[in-house]
Amino acid sequence: MLRVAKVIPKTTAEGPHERLALWVAGCDLACPGCCNPELFAPEAGTSLDRSALARLIEDASDVEGITVLGGEPLQQPGGLAFVLRLARARGLGTIVFTGYTLGAAQRLPDFDEVDANVDTWVDGPFDARRPETRRRFIGSSNQRLHHRTSRYADATLWNGRTRVEVRIGPGGAVEAHGLPRGVARLRRALHRT
Ligand code: SF4
Repeated sequence: MLRVAKVIPKTTAEGPHERLALWVAGCDLACPGCCNPELFAPEAGTSLDRSALARLIEDASDVEGITVLGGEPLQQPGGLAFVLRLARARGLGTIVFTGYTLGAAQRLPDFDEVDANVDTWVDGPFDARRPETRRRFIGSSNQRLHHRTSRYADATLWNGRTRVEVRIGPGGAVEAHGLPRGVARLRRALHRT
């Protein structure tokens, strides 16, 4: 099972190339200035069982890879490892954002099972006081890339500025993701209107 808060089937704002992006629910890390506090509660989102997760990956036919964000993915290591393994089996690349440093993550239970299925980690707590300005997709300058394979190791894939992707749902709901401070500003502006 994996508690999933949001899925975007295709985006270019959460890693190189076109990707399936999956936000898990549940996080107790309290990074300074987190722009996803609605994902802190473990009961947020929906629990997807193995067959639902398999369908999600089977449907991801026209993307280069999958990015898992949160919430904190490593607080659900079993479900996370399962979905990453499926993605890998279909030839998709895998990127995981974690609020733990990799050193701390390596001490967590079942880390190795997850790590074996990750091409690139983006690690470390998001810090709104240190916004990233040179690397795309990454929220704050303290966060580090750790390439476990060469798939995303080319630095030019990460050079540039992160953008905000805005989507308008069928009911008119506005959804934004990508650059954290851009998302936060947009949410504040929408809240005022
Ligand atoms: S790990 Fe992610 S969801 Fe958790 S507090 Fe940090 S930025 Fe927010």
